[in-house]
Amino acid sequence: MSDELVELAKRRGFFFQAAEPYGGVSGFYVYGPQGAALKRNIEDSWRDRFQVQEGHREIEAPTIMPEPVFEASGHLDTFDDMLVECPECGESHRADHLIEDNTDIEDAESFPLDEVGDLIADHDLHCPNCDTSLAGEPVEDFNLMFETDIGPGSGQPGYLRPETAQGIFVEFPRLKEYARNQLPFGTTQIGKAYRNEISPRKSIVRVREFTQAELEHFIDPEEDEPPLERVEDVEVRLYSAPKQNADDGDYLDTTIGEAVEEGIIASDWVAYYVGVAQEWYERIGIDMNRFRFRQHLAGERSHYASDCWDAEGEIGGDWIELAGISDRSDYDLSKHGEYSDDDFTVFRQYDEPKVVERATVDPDMSYLGPEFGGAAGDITDALQRLAERNRSAFDSDEVTVEANGESYTIPVEKTGFSVDEVKESGEHITPHVIEPSIGVGRALYTVLVHSYEEDDVEGETRTRLSLEPELAPTTVGVFPLMDKDGMGETAREIATDLRTSGFDVTYDDSGNIGRRYRRQDEVGTPFCVTVDYEGLEDDTVTLRERDSTKQIRVAVADLADILTDLRSG
Ligand code: ATP
Repeated sequence: MSDELVELAKRRGFFFQAAEPYGGVSGFYVYGPQGAALKRNIEDSWRDRFQVQEGHREIEAPTIMPEPVFEASGHLDTFDDMLVECPECGESHRADHLIEDNTDIEDAESFPLDEVGDLIADHDLHCPNCDTSLAGEPVEDFNLMFETDIGPGSGQPGYLRPETAQGIFVEFPRLKEYARNQLPFGTTQIGKAYRNEISPRKSIVRVREFTQAELEHFIDPEEDEPPLERVEDVEVRLYSAPKQNADDGDYLDTTIGEAVEEGIIASDWVAYYVGVAQEWYERIGIDMNRFRFRQHLAGERSHYASDCWDAEGEIGGDWIELAGISDRSDYDLSKHGEYSDDDFTVFRQYDEPKVVERATVDPDMSYLGPEFGGAAGDITDALQRLAERNRSAFDSDEVTVEANGESYTIPVEKTGFSVDEVKESGEHITPHVIEPSIGVGRALYTVLVHSYEEDDVEGETRTRLSLEPELAPTTVGVFPLMDKDGMGETAREIATDLRTSGFDVTYDDSGNIGRRYRRQDEVGTPFCVTVDYEGLEDDTVTLRERDSTKQIRVAVADLADILTDLRSG
């Protein structure tokens, strides 16, 4: 981000570092009066495209969840980044970033920890803060989740969610009821996520608290197909290269329809949401010449993803990840099904009842006797699960199962194992999940960078944000030419009426009119209305458009309708 824009963001209240009176904390930002409005408008537009138009529903889950949730999701074990600490100044660095920033190596994240340590030594890398050599320093895994205690002295650990998605997955048993057990259905959530990033950077691009807009679309992978015809003509720029920041890979300009036909995007569902995302990023004013989709390579994918395409935006020569569109398969729901006592499956009804073979064991194995330590019930359950999964385990004389953390070997003849033909009306399946996960802050940041312009108006350089009217924090600025002879009163009345009609309005009567236009141009206000002497006579105002600076005279009575049309493009 250019220094001018960072300065503008701070001065005009888009965003600034939090807790500055106390020295500030790295990785935490405040959205000021302009920024909070812009962010809310981006969220509303996301909601419209990814939720309302798709017929999905939104929920709001807690941001803190108990430890077992993250044991099941895999975050406790694998949500790590590589950390190396400077022995001199104590500053922590992300080892993979350090290597990628200072060598030709593009995928340092995929190396084992000890090799990463060797790479630091071999390339003689130094601390970016104090220039001390980092050779020989240990490289460790650092879990990015913020830990907390739930309740005083309860000893129940909890974590701030590192992605909003888990709040949806955990509630799946209830959500499927609301969807009347019918797939497909989608649940959305816009909310805070927390990651204790080792080195927050690039202002709001990498922070420790950020907003995600996520859609979890639950599908039956064998039965459900996306409405691809709705996006097949959408043009996309696909990029293939191993690394996010690179620019030397291959570009392909194509349509979603072609990308699917050629098998370039393997999953139709992922392709569908790549198309939706393309349309949405264009709608919010991202420059399409500085935007692309890049497929994750196998080694780069998250622990849950079977296919993932990132939306990336270019900022000052760097490409940053704006969103990930993943096929999370049945990973999350299966894990929660395994770790909890609830049912994370749905019933798939057959068109006609089918005769199927079913393997069962004797439901009452109490005759196994006291030598099994009262575990007979659990052994029975384990045997039944094994019979369903792997019948051939019962082919020998003995069968071994795990129950209550112990291993039991039982003569097959004692299990009552049999295979019978039964009529079934359907089967239980674990849905798959397609997830577009969008970072709201990164979208906002890119919108600001891509809409920042300087041009020449009346011999002066003006700064303007060419924000889409749908997103602009203020839709219309209302000014009296001067606050006298009734022009101030009339302008204030117009401002009140427009607010009542649902517009975000700023009233301003200070300074000369040119300066007032500039103030609005700088925060991206698309329209300005001025009350002048002529207007007092004939109930008209001048209406000025930001980018062209063109002015037209319109009747006050028509103003709200005209602005409504202009705002919706
Ligand atoms: P990165 O590789 O940049 O750390 P990620 O691949 O870990 O991101 P995801 O887990 O896919 O990110 O999260 C989805 C989206 O959430 C990202 O595309 C991004 O827009 C946003 N996001 C993730 N981490 C951060 C962060 N620390 N600060 C701001 N936004 C973030």
